[in-house]
Amino acid sequence: MQPRLRLPSPLTQLRDDRLARRDVRLLVKRDDLIHPELPGNKWRKLKYNLERARQQGHSTILTFGGAYSNAIRATAAAGHYFGFDTIGVIRGEEHLPLNPSLAYATSRGMRLAYLDRSTYRRKHSAEVVDALHREFGEFYLLPEGASNELAVRGCAELPAEITEPYDVICCPVGTGGTLAGIAGGIAGGIAGGIAGSPAAGPRAVGFCVLKGAQFLEAEVARLQRAAFGSVSGNWELAYDFHFGGYAKRTPELDAFIADWARRHGDVLDRIYVAKMMYGIVARAEAGWFPPGSTVVAVVTG
Ligand SMILES: *Cc1c(COP(=O)(O)O)cnc(C)c1O
Repeated sequence: MQPRLRLPSPLTQLRDDRLARRDVRLLVKRDDLIHPELPGNKWRKLKYNLERARQQGHSTILTFGGAYSNAIRATAAAGHYFGFDTIGVIRGEEHLPLNPSLAYATSRGMRLAYLDRSTYRRKHSAEVVDALHREFGEFYLLPEGASNELAVRGCAELPAEITEPYDVICCPVGTGGTLAGIAGGIAGGIAGGIAGSPAAGPRAVGFCVLKGAQFLEAEVARLQRAAFGSVSGNWELAYDFHFGGYAKRTPELDAFIADWARRHGDVLDRIYVAKMMYGIVARAEAGWFPPGSTVVAVVTG
């Protein structure tokens, strides 16, 4: 059963006084509405991987993630809808009862396996992958976070869906695959061949939700080279909005989320989307976007 996907995802203008005062227009790209179980960037990241897995004749997809990973959930859902068996290799030990994310994944037919933290760090090495093949047989390997060049190509399709002029696309960053794709898509995508360092034209800004995420600079470049053959010079990472690190929160972030719900009626995803929105508002208030700018915020989940 193929799921009904809402694509292109809706684009709506949001009036936020803090941005309006700076003459900054905010559009939200509601990728979270693409599908309830395949939301946001995860659908875009899976699309060409599912196609490749099928072409290569695989019946099973194996991927890696933390116990609360959205990519694990989405891979389980994709397996259910597109007819693949799925295996989720989870970092750390099994905890029973399963948390809601993993319980959901198993309800969609995913088989779970666990790797201790030190083995998990080497999860993409030939040694660990060979051991997984001995245990589970053949499978299509999807890297952690579903981030690979096919994921980047899927995300590169987002900018062409934006039907109005804009200056900046903002997205949250975990592994960097989404940012790599969006920036590549702005710069011409796969068909156009990406331009090296466009001096003018829209740019992409990724808001890192991890602490100490400077390594992502090289990772985004690596993913772009893998997907497009070169690196587009039209993106940057913002490191100051992690609020202590992945899945960490502070009273300030919680207050921002509550205030956003009062202003706009939407409860922001606090792992990713809230940190990006906080960063956009903070940068707007600091005058970082020139007056008259249009900013597109990608609601990834
Ligand atoms: C996975 C995820 C991200 C991170 O995407 P990357 O491509 O790993 O940077 C952002 N937002 C949401 C809601 C996600 O689930």
